[in-house]
Amino acid sequence: MTQRQPESPNNTQKVVAFSSTLTAASQPALEPLERLQLTLMQKLQRTLVLEEVISIFAEAAGKVVPHDSYCYLFRDLTIRETHPQRASHNARYNLTLEDQYLGEMVFYRQSRFTEDELSLLETLLGVLVYPLRNVLAYQDAINAAMTDALTGVGNKRAFDYNLHREVALTRRYRTDLSLIMFDVDWFKRINDTYGHAAGDEILQEMANLIRDNLRQTDQCFRFGGEEFVVILGKTNLPQARLVAERLRTAVANHTFLEGRENIRASISIGVAHLQPGDTRDTLLKRADDALYAAKRAGRNRVMAEGAQSRAADQL
Ligand code: GH3
Ligand code: MG
Ligand code: MG
Repeated sequence: MTQRQPESPNNTQKVVAFSSTLTAASQPALEPLERLQLTLMQKLQRTLVLEEVISIFAEAAGKVVPHDSYCYLFRDLTIRETHPQRASHNARYNLTLEDQYLGEMVFYRQSRFTEDELSLLETLLGVLVYPLRNVLAYQDAINAAMTDALTGVGNKRAFDYNLHREVALTRRYRTDLSLIMFDVDWFKRINDTYGHAAGDEILQEMANLIRDNLRQTDQCFRFGGEEFVVILGKTNLPQARLVAERLRTAVANHTFLEGRENIRASISIGVAHLQPGDTRDTLLKRADDALYAAKRAGRNRVMAEGAQSRAADQL
């Protein structure tokens, strides 16, 4: 179930995934290795957090096969020990279970791993694969439940979860938090003119365009229909207005479904900044009010909280 990509390339080995209904307590006469496997299995089953699974495993493995550092790689994710050291030898394993790829685990060390140590590592990796598969499946399910199927950005549930977290962090570290809410202008007309399928494609293109114009740390979510929200951590109101203006310009200058329908579109944007007495709802309401003011003031524009009363005066 694990395959070593070695140090010694001709010596790859398969190990059997560990499963047992025994418990250490019920079998006091267990061999030390079997006891170790059982204890590790029990520890691994206590969490559904990938980082914890990997660190529990590495710690247990390190007690019997000392290593200088380790690394786990899966898709675009890398989990490393915090202080990796220079090491000239590594033991590298591709983890699979029933043909499902579960990532790569690498241990680093200054001195060479002995054959006995490598076989011990393989035995322990046999304990890791089942819990690892469960955790990866759980994470996939969570990601799917938090992702908008059409656009690939976070959905309303993800937004609620992240806003809660970001507000708590902002308060704890006494920093800034701003919220951008935007809505596609005249989208019904676009749908009516080009068809609902084209409308769907525009929403996908819009989400990509927005992501391309945000910092990696800023998170965009589909709030519903053709309405999106962006959480801007560590961002005050003037900075958030600049970001909003950049997004507005990017959309206004973009040609959607280029080469086919060549559609131009625009968005109206409301911006709000977290205040001391705010709840998530009051913050959201001010962003929504500002968005509404931007619509009333003529669309394709940015309106920040507090500015809507001035805009209303001008109407
Ligand atoms: P405004 O500038 O005031 O926002 O005008 P609007 O036409 O965008 O506003 P309205 O709320 O009247 O219309 C929103 C439209 O968005 C209507 C709805 O059918 C469409 N819509 C909502 N979700 C989707 C979707 O997932 N795909 C497509 N193609 N259209 C959607
Ligand atoms: Mg709209
Ligand atoms: Mg709308």
